[in-house]
Amino acid sequence: MIKFLDLHKQYLSIKDEIDQSIKAVINNSSFIGGSYKDKFEVDFARYLDVNNCIGVANGTDALEIAIEALGPPLNSEIIVPANSYISSAEAVSRSGCKVIFCDVNEDDYLISLNDLKNKITENTFAIMPVHLYGQICDMDEIIKIAKESNIKIIEDTAQAHGAIYNGKKAGTFGDVGCFSFYPGKNLGAYGDAGAIITNNNEIADKARLISNHGRTSKYNHIIKGRNSRLDGLQAAILSVKLKHLDKWIDHRNKLAKQYIKLLTENLHITLPKINELSRHAFHLFIIRCEERDKLQKFLKQNDIETGIHYPIALPDTRAYLNYNQKIDNVSNICSRILSLPIGEHLTEAQIEKVCMSINSFYS
Ligand SMILES: *Cc1c(COP(=O)(O)O)cnc(C)c1O
Repeated sequence: MIKFLDLHKQYLSIKDEIDQSIKAVINNSSFIGGSYKDKFEVDFARYLDVNNCIGVANGTDALEIAIEALGPPLNSEIIVPANSYISSAEAVSRSGCKVIFCDVNEDDYLISLNDLKNKITENTFAIMPVHLYGQICDMDEIIKIAKESNIKIIEDTAQAHGAIYNGKKAGTFGDVGCFSFYPGKNLGAYGDAGAIITNNNEIADKARLISNHGRTSKYNHIIKGRNSRLDGLQAAILSVKLKHLDKWIDHRNKLAKQYIKLLTENLHITLPKINELSRHAFHLFIIRCEERDKLQKFLKQNDIETGIHYPIALPDTRAYLNYNQKIDNVSNICSRILSLPIGEHLTEAQIEKVCMSINSFYS
Protein backbone atom coordinates (compact mmCIF):
# COMPACT_ATOMS: atom_id res chain seq x y z
CA MET A 1 0.00 0.00 0.00
CA ILE A 2 1.37 3.43 -0.94
CA LYS A 3 -0.18 5.75 1.59
CA PHE A 4 -1.00 9.39 0.99
CA LEU A 5 -0.01 10.23 4.56
CA ASP A 6 1.57 8.06 7.26
CA LEU A 7 1.80 9.93 10.55
CA HIS A 8 2.46 6.75 12.51
CA LYS A 9 5.59 6.02 10.50
CA GLN A 10 6.78 9.58 11.09
CA TYR A 11 6.13 9.19 14.83
CA LEU A 12 8.15 5.97 15.01
CA SER A 13 11.12 7.72 13.37
CA ILE A 14 11.27 10.32 16.19
CA LYS A 15 9.50 8.37 18.95
CA ASP A 16 12.03 8.80 21.78
CA GLU A 17 12.27 12.58 21.38
CA ILE A 18 8.49 12.96 21.14
CA ASP A 19 7.72 10.71 24.11
CA GLN A 20 10.24 12.56 26.27
CA SER A 21 8.85 15.95 25.33
CA ILE A 22 5.27 14.90 26.14
CA LYS A 23 6.36 13.47 29.49
CA ALA A 24 8.21 16.67 30.35
CA VAL A 25 5.14 18.84 29.70
CA ILE A 26 2.97 16.60 31.87
CA ASN A 27 5.57 16.46 34.66
CA ASN A 28 5.69 20.25 34.67
CA SER A 29 1.88 20.68 34.31
CA SER A 30 2.76 23.23 31.66
CA PHE A 31 -0.50 22.86 29.76
CA ILE A 32 -1.56 26.40 28.90
CA GLY A 33 1.04 29.10 28.46
CA GLY A 34 4.33 28.32 30.15
CA SER A 35 7.83 27.49 29.04
CA TYR A 36 7.07 24.99 26.22
CA LYS A 37 4.75 27.40 24.47
CA ASP A 38 7.27 30.22 24.92
CA LYS A 39 10.08 28.02 23.64
CA PHE A 40 8.28 27.01 20.47
CA GLU A 41 7.41 30.62 19.70
CA VAL A 42 11.09 31.52 19.99
CA ASP A 43 12.20 28.44 18.02
CA PHE A 44 9.80 29.09 15.16
CA ALA A 45 10.54 32.84 15.00
CA ARG A 46 14.26 32.04 14.85
CA TYR A 47 13.72 29.40 12.15
CA LEU A 48 11.83 31.93 10.03
CA ASP A 49 14.03 34.88 10.96
CA VAL A 50 11.11 37.01 12.07
CA ASN A 51 10.58 39.20 15.16
CA ASN A 52 7.36 37.78 16.56
CA CYS A 53 5.56 34.46 16.69
CA ILE A 54 2.23 34.10 18.48
CA GLY A 55 0.96 30.56 19.00
CA VAL A 56 -2.80 30.16 18.53
CA ALA A 57 -5.27 27.28 18.51
CA ASN A 58 -5.32 26.51 14.76
CA GLY A 59 -4.58 27.94 11.34
CA THR A 60 -8.06 29.29 10.71
CA ASP A 61 -7.90 31.25 13.96
CA ALA A 62 -4.45 32.52 12.97
CA LEU A 63 -5.97 34.07 9.82
CA GLU A 64 -9.01 35.43 11.64
CA ILE A 65 -7.01 36.96 14.49
CA ALA A 66 -4.43 38.40 12.07
CA ILE A 67 -7.19 40.19 10.14
CA GLU A 68 -8.69 41.57 13.35
CA ALA A 69 -5.26 42.71 14.56
CA LEU A 70 -4.78 44.67 11.32
CA GLY A 71 -8.02 46.55 12.08
CA PRO A 72 -10.02 46.57 8.83
CA PRO A 73 -12.51 49.46 8.59
CA LEU A 74 -16.21 48.83 7.90
CA ASN A 75 -17.03 47.42 4.40
CA SER A 76 -13.50 46.16 3.85
CA GLU A 77 -12.83 43.66 1.09
CA ILE A 78 -10.09 41.04 1.16
CA ILE A 79 -8.97 39.33 -2.05
CA VAL A 80 -8.64 35.54 -1.75
CA PRO A 81 -7.66 33.03 -4.47
CA ALA A 82 -10.63 30.90 -5.54
CA ASN A 83 -8.48 27.76 -5.35
CA SER A 84 -7.66 27.21 -1.68
CA TYR A 85 -8.86 25.47 1.43
CA ILE A 86 -12.10 26.89 2.85
CA SER A 87 -10.30 28.52 5.82
CA SER A 88 -8.83 31.26 3.64
CA ALA A 89 -12.32 32.55 2.82
CA GLU A 90 -13.93 31.55 6.11
CA ALA A 91 -11.53 33.65 8.18
CA VAL A 92 -12.29 36.72 6.06
CA SER A 93 -16.05 36.24 6.41
CA ARG A 94 -15.83 35.59 10.16
CA SER A 95 -13.84 38.78 10.63
CA GLY A 96 -16.71 40.75 9.09
CA CYS A 97 -14.90 41.57 5.84
CA LYS A 98 -16.14 40.68 2.35
CA VAL A 99 -14.38 37.95 0.38
CA ILE A 100 -13.50 38.84 -3.19
CA PHE A 101 -12.44 35.72 -5.07
CA CYS A 102 -9.55 35.92 -7.51
CA ASP A 103 -8.54 33.67 -10.42
CA VAL A 104 -5.44 31.47 -10.25
CA ASN A 105 -2.72 30.64 -12.79
CA GLU A 106 -3.20 27.50 -14.82
CA ASP A 107 0.45 26.49 -14.54
CA ASP A 108 1.25 26.87 -10.83
CA TYR A 109 -2.29 27.24 -9.38
CA LEU A 110 -1.28 30.35 -7.41
CA ILE A 111 -3.14 33.68 -7.33
CA SER A 112 -3.29 35.35 -10.76
CA LEU A 113 -1.66 38.77 -10.68
CA ASN A 114 -3.61 40.03 -13.68
CA ASP A 115 -6.93 39.20 -12.08
CA LEU A 116 -5.68 40.48 -8.73
CA LYS A 117 -5.16 43.93 -10.24
CA ASN A 118 -8.72 43.81 -11.66
CA LYS A 119 -10.22 42.97 -8.30
CA ILE A 120 -8.78 45.91 -6.38
CA THR A 121 -11.38 48.56 -5.47
CA GLU A 122 -11.43 51.50 -3.07
CA ASN A 123 -12.69 49.09 -0.40
CA THR A 124 -9.84 46.61 -0.78
CA PHE A 125 -8.19 46.28 2.62
CA ALA A 126 -5.88 43.34 2.01
CA ILE A 127 -4.70 40.59 -0.32
CA MET A 128 -4.36 37.05 0.97
CA PRO A 129 -1.74 35.23 -1.08
CA VAL A 130 -2.01 31.51 -0.34
CA HIS A 131 1.27 29.66 -0.89
CA LEU A 132 -0.72 26.70 -2.08
CA TYR A 133 0.75 23.20 -2.17
CA GLY A 134 3.98 24.61 -0.67
CA GLN A 135 5.06 27.04 -3.40
CA ILE A 136 5.48 30.75 -2.64
CA CYS A 137 3.47 33.20 -4.76
CA ASP A 138 5.24 35.90 -6.78
CA MET A 139 5.79 38.06 -3.71
CA ASP A 140 7.92 40.72 -5.46
CA GLU A 141 4.96 41.61 -7.68
CA ILE A 142 2.37 41.23 -4.94
CA ILE A 143 4.30 43.58 -2.65
CA LYS A 144 4.55 46.08 -5.51
CA ILE A 145 0.79 45.93 -6.18
CA ALA A 146 -0.01 46.21 -2.46
CA LYS A 147 2.25 49.25 -2.03
CA GLU A 148 0.77 51.03 -5.04
CA SER A 149 -2.76 50.58 -3.70
CA ASN A 150 -1.86 50.95 -0.02
CA ILE A 151 -3.28 47.57 0.96
CA LYS A 152 -2.15 44.95 3.48
CA ILE A 153 -0.78 41.50 2.78
CA ILE A 154 -1.91 38.53 4.88
CA GLU A 155 0.00 35.39 3.88
CA ASP A 156 -1.79 32.09 4.26
CA THR A 157 1.26 29.94 4.93
CA ALA A 158 -0.62 26.85 6.11
CA GLN A 159 0.97 24.70 3.37
CA ALA A 160 4.38 26.31 3.05
CA HIS A 161 6.37 25.94 6.30
CA GLY A 162 10.02 26.31 5.34
CA ALA A 163 9.48 27.31 1.71
CA ILE A 164 12.00 29.95 0.60
CA TYR A 165 11.80 32.73 -2.02
CA ASN A 166 14.67 35.17 -2.65
CA GLY A 167 16.37 33.93 0.51
CA LYS A 168 13.35 34.65 2.71
CA LYS A 169 10.98 32.14 4.29
CA ALA A 170 7.28 31.96 3.48
CA GLY A 171 5.18 34.09 5.82
CA THR A 172 7.78 36.84 6.27
CA PHE A 173 6.93 38.95 3.20
CA GLY A 174 3.61 40.47 4.16
CA ASP A 175 2.25 42.31 7.17
CA VAL A 176 1.46 38.95 8.78
CA GLY A 177 1.98 35.27 8.03
CA CYS A 178 -0.46 32.64 9.27
CA PHE A 179 0.46 29.02 9.88
CA SER A 180 -1.52 25.87 10.59
CA PHE A 181 0.04 22.92 12.39
CA TYR A 182 -2.84 20.57 11.63
CA PRO A 183 -1.37 17.04 11.94
CA GLY A 184 -1.14 16.43 8.18
CA LYS A 185 0.78 19.63 7.35
CA ASN A 186 4.53 19.52 6.70
CA LEU A 187 5.01 20.70 10.29
CA GLY A 188 2.12 19.15 12.16
CA ALA A 189 1.13 18.89 15.83
CA TYR A 190 -0.76 16.01 17.46
CA GLY A 191 -3.98 17.98 17.45
CA ASP A 192 -5.00 21.47 16.36
CA ALA A 193 -2.44 24.27 16.51
CA GLY A 194 -1.46 27.41 14.60
CA ALA A 195 0.69 30.54 14.69
CA ILE A 196 0.82 34.14 13.53
CA ILE A 197 4.16 35.67 12.63
CA THR A 198 5.04 39.30 11.98
CA ASN A 199 7.93 41.75 12.09
CA ASN A 200 5.54 44.46 13.26
CA ASN A 201 5.58 44.55 17.07
CA GLU A 202 2.34 46.52 17.31
CA ILE A 203 0.40 43.96 15.27
CA ALA A 204 2.03 41.20 17.30
CA ASP A 205 0.91 42.74 20.60
CA LYS A 206 -2.62 43.17 19.28
CA ALA A 207 -2.81 39.58 18.01
CA ARG A 208 -1.52 38.26 21.32
CA LEU A 209 -4.12 40.27 23.21
CA ILE A 210 -6.97 39.11 20.98
CA SER A 211 -5.96 35.45 21.25
CA ASN A 212 -5.82 35.51 25.04
CA HIS A 213 -9.01 37.21 26.28
CA GLY A 214 -7.68 40.71 25.65
CA ARG A 215 -5.77 40.54 28.87
CA THR A 216 -2.57 42.14 30.07
CA SER A 217 -2.64 40.20 33.34
CA LYS A 218 -4.92 37.50 34.70
CA TYR A 219 -8.08 39.55 35.23
CA ASN A 220 -7.17 42.77 33.46
CA HIS A 221 -8.98 42.73 30.10
CA ILE A 222 -8.27 45.83 28.03
CA ILE A 223 -10.03 44.76 24.81
CA LYS A 224 -12.70 42.19 23.95
CA GLY A 225 -10.63 39.18 23.05
CA ARG A 226 -11.22 35.46 22.70
CA ASN A 227 -9.63 32.15 23.62
CA SER A 228 -7.33 30.82 20.92
CA ARG A 229 -4.11 29.53 22.42
CA LEU A 230 -1.37 27.09 21.53
CA ASP A 231 -1.19 24.52 24.33
CA GLY A 232 2.00 23.24 25.94
CA LEU A 233 1.80 19.67 24.64
CA GLN A 234 1.41 20.76 21.03
CA ALA A 235 4.17 23.34 21.43
CA ALA A 236 6.62 20.79 22.83
CA ILE A 237 5.83 18.35 20.01
CA LEU A 238 6.27 21.10 17.43
CA SER A 239 9.68 22.11 18.85
CA VAL A 240 10.85 18.52 18.39
CA LYS A 241 9.45 18.23 14.88
CA LEU A 242 10.82 21.61 13.77
CA LYS A 243 14.34 20.19 14.05
CA HIS A 244 13.45 17.62 11.38
CA LEU A 245 11.51 19.90 9.04
CA ASP A 246 14.31 20.88 6.64
CA LYS A 247 15.36 17.27 6.18
CA TRP A 248 11.73 16.33 5.46
CA ILE A 249 11.34 19.16 2.94
CA ASP A 250 14.55 18.04 1.18
CA HIS A 251 13.14 14.55 0.92
CA ARG A 252 9.87 15.86 -0.51
CA ASN A 253 11.87 17.78 -3.13
CA LYS A 254 13.78 14.64 -4.07
CA LEU A 255 10.50 12.75 -4.58
CA ALA A 256 9.03 15.63 -6.60
CA LYS A 257 12.05 15.52 -8.92
CA GLN A 258 11.42 11.82 -9.40
CA TYR A 259 7.77 12.49 -10.33
CA ILE A 260 8.78 15.16 -12.82
CA LYS A 261 11.39 12.92 -14.40
CA LEU A 262 9.12 9.91 -14.79
CA LEU A 263 5.93 11.72 -15.83
CA THR A 264 7.33 14.41 -18.09
CA GLU A 265 6.72 12.45 -21.29
CA ASN A 266 3.15 11.54 -20.45
CA LEU A 267 1.08 13.84 -22.67
CA HIS A 268 -2.15 13.15 -20.79
CA ILE A 269 -0.74 14.90 -17.74
CA THR A 270 0.24 18.48 -17.00
CA LEU A 271 2.97 18.82 -14.40
CA PRO A 272 3.02 21.81 -12.05
CA LYS A 273 5.25 24.74 -12.95
CA ILE A 274 8.04 24.97 -10.40
CA ASN A 275 9.90 28.18 -9.66
CA GLU A 276 13.47 26.89 -9.77
CA LEU A 277 14.82 29.90 -7.89
CA SER A 278 12.81 29.19 -4.75
CA ARG A 279 12.53 26.26 -2.40
CA HIS A 280 9.18 24.57 -2.77
CA ALA A 281 7.94 22.86 0.42
CA PHE A 282 5.99 20.28 -1.64
CA HIS A 283 3.22 19.87 0.89
CA LEU A 284 1.34 18.42 -2.08
CA PHE A 285 2.31 17.27 -5.57
CA ILE A 286 -0.43 18.13 -8.04
CA ILE A 287 -0.96 16.91 -11.58
CA ARG A 288 -3.70 17.97 -13.95
CA CYS A 289 -4.94 15.02 -15.95
CA GLU A 290 -7.43 13.56 -18.38
CA GLU A 291 -10.08 11.24 -16.93
CA ARG A 292 -9.12 12.24 -13.41
CA ASP A 293 -11.76 10.22 -11.55
CA LYS A 294 -11.04 7.05 -13.53
CA LEU A 295 -7.32 7.45 -12.93
CA GLN A 296 -7.89 7.93 -9.22
CA LYS A 297 -9.99 4.76 -9.08
CA PHE A 298 -7.39 2.82 -11.07
CA LEU A 299 -4.63 3.92 -8.68
CA LYS A 300 -6.75 2.93 -5.71
CA GLN A 301 -7.21 -0.55 -7.19
CA ASN A 302 -3.41 -0.66 -7.40
CA ASP A 303 -3.09 0.23 -3.69
CA ILE A 304 -2.04 3.82 -4.32
CA GLU A 305 -3.81 6.52 -2.29
CA THR A 306 -4.34 9.96 -3.83
CA GLY A 307 -6.28 13.09 -2.90
CA ILE A 308 -7.95 16.09 -4.52
CA HIS A 309 -7.05 19.57 -3.30
CA TYR A 310 -9.64 20.83 -3.81
CA PRO A 311 -12.59 19.18 -5.56
CA ILE A 312 -14.81 22.29 -5.36
CA ALA A 313 -13.62 25.83 -6.06
CA LEU A 314 -14.39 28.14 -3.14
CA PRO A 315 -16.95 30.30 -5.03
CA ASP A 316 -18.75 27.05 -5.99
CA THR A 317 -19.15 25.82 -2.41
CA ARG A 318 -22.65 26.17 -1.00
CA ALA A 319 -21.32 28.57 1.62
CA TYR A 320 -20.29 31.07 -1.08
CA LEU A 321 -22.71 30.35 -3.94
CA ASN A 322 -24.79 33.42 -3.12
CA TYR A 323 -21.77 35.65 -3.75
CA ASN A 324 -22.16 34.92 -7.49
CA GLN A 325 -18.41 35.09 -7.97
CA LYS A 326 -17.91 31.87 -9.94
CA ILE A 327 -14.61 31.76 -11.86
CA ASP A 328 -14.84 29.23 -14.71
CA ASN A 329 -11.10 28.71 -15.01
CA VAL A 330 -10.82 27.66 -11.37
CA SER A 331 -13.91 25.42 -11.55
CA ASN A 332 -12.34 23.64 -14.53
CA ILE A 333 -9.01 23.23 -12.77
CA CYS A 334 -10.74 21.70 -9.75
CA SER A 335 -12.32 19.01 -11.92
CA ARG A 336 -8.97 17.90 -13.35
CA ILE A 337 -6.40 18.06 -10.55
CA LEU A 338 -5.11 15.08 -8.61
CA SER A 339 -2.73 15.06 -5.63
CA LEU A 340 -0.16 12.26 -5.76
CA PRO A 341 1.35 10.81 -2.59
CA ILE A 342 4.42 12.69 -1.34
CA GLY A 343 6.09 12.85 2.07
CA GLU A 344 8.91 11.67 4.25
CA HIS A 345 7.18 8.30 4.61
CA LEU A 346 7.78 7.40 0.94
CA THR A 347 10.82 6.22 -1.02
CA GLU A 348 11.92 7.00 -4.58
CA ALA A 349 11.11 3.38 -5.49
CA GLN A 350 7.51 3.92 -4.37
CA ILE A 351 7.25 7.08 -6.46
CA GLU A 352 8.52 5.06 -9.40
CA LYS A 353 5.72 2.58 -8.81
CA VAL A 354 3.11 5.37 -8.76
CA CYS A 355 4.47 6.74 -12.04
CA MET A 356 4.49 3.31 -13.69
CA SER A 357 0.85 2.84 -12.70
CA ILE A 358 -0.13 6.25 -14.06
CA ASN A 359 1.71 5.67 -17.32
CA SER A 360 0.15 2.23 -17.71
CA PHE A 361 -3.34 3.69 -17.15
CA TYR A 362 -2.96 5.90 -20.23
CA SER A 363 -1.25 3.34 -22.48
C1 LIG B 1 -4.94 23.75 6.62
C2 LIG B 1 -5.18 25.07 6.02
C3 LIG B 1 -5.71 26.14 6.74
C4 LIG B 1 -6.35 26.02 8.11
O1 LIG B 1 -5.71 25.39 9.08
P1 LIG B 1 -6.46 24.73 10.34
O2 LIG B 1 -5.35 24.57 11.30
O3 LIG B 1 -7.03 23.43 9.86
O4 LIG B 1 -7.50 25.65 10.83
C5 LIG B 1 -5.80 27.38 6.13
N1 LIG B 1 -5.41 27.55 4.86
C6 LIG B 1 -4.91 26.55 4.11
C7 LIG B 1 -4.47 26.83 2.71
C8 LIG B 1 -4.79 25.27 4.66
O5 LIG B 1 -4.30 24.28 3.90
